[in-house]
This record gives sequence, structure tokens and C-alpha cells, in this order.
Amino acid sequence: MSKTVLKFYRGTHGMGVCISVTYEKDRIIFDFGAPFTPLAQVYDGTVRPRNVSKVKDSILLGKIPPVEGVFNRKELQGLDVLPYEECDINSAVMICHLHLDHMSEADKIAPEIPVYIHRDGIRLQELLYVVEGTAKYRDYIPFEYHVPFRVGQIEITPFYSDHPCPGSAGFLIRTPDSTIYYSGDIRFHGTDAQKAFDELKILKKEKIDLLIVDATTTSPSEFVHGTKMDKIMKEPSQDLLEGCISEQDIYDDIYRSLKDFGGLGIFNQYDRDVSMIRHMYDLGNRLGRKTVFEPSFACILHEFTGIRAPICHIDSSVIPAYREQMETDWEVISADEIRKAPERYLLQNAYRNILSLTDFDGVQGKYFHLFGEPLTEDQKAWNIMRNVLNKLGWQFFSYSNLYSFSHAYPNQLAYLVKQIGAKTVVAVHSKEPERLNSVDSLQVFPEEGKDYTLTDGELKPWNR
Ligand SMILES: [Zn+2]
Repeated sequence: MSKTVLKFYRGTHGMGVCISVTYEKDRIIFDFGAPFTPLAQVYDGTVRPRNVSKVKDSILLGKIPPVEGVFNRKELQGLDVLPYEECDINSAVMICHLHLDHMSEADKIAPEIPVYIHRDGIRLQELLYVVEGTAKYRDYIPFEYHVPFRVGQIEITPFYSDHPCPGSAGFLIRTPDSTIYYSGDIRFHGTDAQKAFDELKILKKEKIDLLIVDATTTSPSEFVHGTKMDKIMKEPSQDLLEGCISEQDIYDDIYRSLKDFGGLGIFNQYDRDVSMIRHMYDLGNRLGRKTVFEPSFACILHEFTGIRAPICHIDSSVIPAYREQMETDWEVISADEIRKAPERYLLQNAYRNILSLTDFDGVQGKYFHLFGEPLTEDQKAWNIMRNVLNKLGWQFFSYSNLYSFSHAYPNQLAYLVKQIGAKTVVAVHSKEPERLNSVDSLQVFPEEGKDYTLTDGELKPWNR
């Protein structure tokens, strides 16, 4: 019998993927974030998280599953979960990218357990501590694409994944008797999609027993064409089918919309989507407009590209040190300058600073929601955002939805499954995994919290 044992703690019916692969006394766990649940989120900005009890509270609230041997005894405060100190397994945690549903709970992991993130993800995290003014809570170990590393007898090789966050990766996992691929979050319609297709050519040559795949868009509520999803939508192909949009289509649409517009262009994006920051900077140039960023976004752009974009001033009672320096050394564009010639600017605005837009009342504006907070239409903040923009009389534009922007369309997902050609496939990160087209692979639906062995590519319940 195979010695490779898997446990699906979470992610087989939604987000917050947390899975372990164990071989004898070595174990890797991939991803360690809480699912994105805006309507049931306890820490809504009003309820204060408790620092002393963060591990216990997180487990009790279901933000993180009770993984054995990962949390320090004193942090568990009597919860019935095997503490790190009593566990004889050599563990490591892999994070596929820096979005919160994959790593928000990494601060709860015992500091003795190594946590791996791509080099670029670590660069971004280091910068987020500075711009968000949060304390650094732990160190990470960097990995590179295509460079294998080991956790005891388990070998891990990261692959490039087309996702908006820098350093996004999938993991090829080899134990002495099995080969597994975990896709991480993946799509094939970003501006670097070809790189992701090229990775599939390499993976196709591997004999993969089990594919664990991000199948977000199989759920109609999260795929924009869900209601009219017909058969063709699920047939494996690389094509961008009618009605599906690429990341580039969004930039082109904004270009057309602002090209002859005499007012201000405003956009709201997520600061962790670094390549989009870069593309919006370039789009400003293409339009003959200056792209003006809030200091934190400009800081991130500078770290990854060396570009010093113009910044705006954000009103706050205490100005953090990094901003003080930027406001002296960098080009600062005042609200007055923008008001006088709005057609010369493309302005980035984060929702938390939405009130700074009232500086431009009376100016014509087009506001592009590019998947920044609030992330989805079902959030209360979405209505507040729309309300403020209505008061300013600005036009509002949004594209597909967060899930379709960040995850592979169903036909491209089926193409991935076909190329990898694993014996068995498990769909994760989806509310309706049974709608995946598993092509020639056998799709199985493991129960969360139970052990499974992987023998000759077959996933079977394991009773110790
Ligand atoms: Zn995700």
C-alpha cells in the first residue's frame, strides 16, 4: 500500500483551501487562509480581533481548520487540537500566493514551522508591513519557479500560475510513491496567459496521479455566464469564448472610454494585484494622462518596476515615515491641479479613501471598479461606494466579476485538466465542484477531515 496520505481540511466546497500531504513522518500543508465570506465576516471593522486569543478565536470561528501539530500549545488555550509540541511530524506550509483566502491565517502557525512563499510574494509582504503599518509577524522562506526543494522525503517544484498576485504558483509534489499537482488559483486570460499555457506543456510530460485544481468558475453564482453556461463552455479549449473577457480587454475598454473624455478617470483596484498597477500606469501614458497613485500603491509599483509615479496627498492625522519621505522627494499632484485639468489625469482611489473624491465635486468623472475593495456586489460597502459616486454624478463601470477575473474560464479549466491528464482529480475552491468537466480523469469528492491514501493514482479512505 502507498504511504502517501492526504487530508482535505477545507476547500472541497468553497474557498479557504487547506490540504495536507504526508509521507511517513514528513508533511506539507498547502494554503492557510480564511474563506472570503463578506456577509458572515466577524472581523467586519467593528468587532475587534483579540491578539491574546487569536489562534483559539480563529479555530472556533472557523477561519482556520483545527490542523493537528501546527499551533503552539499556549495559543490553543485548552482546545482539543494536537499542539505542535506533541507532534512528531516534520511539517512545512506552502502558500500559493498572497491573497488573503490563501494566507490570512499564516500568523497563527507555530514559528518553528517553515512557511514557503514565492520570492516576489515575500517582497510584496515586506512592503505591506510598511504601508499598512502592521507588525511583522513571522519570516517566510522564498521559493522560485522550477526550482525543486524538499521537506524530508517530499519534493516540491513550484510552477508559474497566471493569477493577479505576484509570485502566484502551483505545486508539483513528489513523494517516493506518488505525484500530485496542486494548481493554486489559476486563470488563462491575464496578460501573461501564454506563460501559464507553456507550463502545461511541461506538466503534460509528468505522470501525475492526482490533480487538485482550482475550479471556482464551475459554480454558476461565481461565473458571469453561469445562467447560460452551455455545453461548449465546458469543452476543453484554449480559446477565449464569446462573452468571456481577458484582462487586456478591460484595459482596452478603459482606453476607448477615456480617449476623448474631458473629465477625470478614476480607478479602484486591489493593492496586491501588482501587474494591474503597472498596466494602469502604462494605460495613463497611452492616454496622455498622468496616472496618479496613493503613496502606498506608488510604493508597491516602485518596488517591482523602479517607476516613480506621481502621488496624491491622503489626508490623515499621522503621516507614516515612508509617506513623509515620498511627499518631499516624489512628484505630488494636488487636488487643485487635478480640478483645473481633469482630462490630464487618471487617478487611483482605494475605497477607504473614497471621501477624498469629494475634492472633485463639479468635475466630470468616470469611475472604473477594477476588483478593489469592496470586492463584490453583495457587500454593504458596494452600495456605499455607488451612493458616493451617484452624489458626485459620475459614471460607474465594472467588468465581469472578481471570480471570473481571477480564475480560469470553464473551457480553459477543462483544457488544463485534459493536458495534465491525471488519473484522479479533486476540484477545490468551488461551491459546485461536481460541475467540473473532469475530461478523462476520474473526479472524486473526498470528505473533509478524513485521511485518504493515494495508491496508483486512486484516492481511497484510509483507516489507521
Ligand atoms: Zn483564492
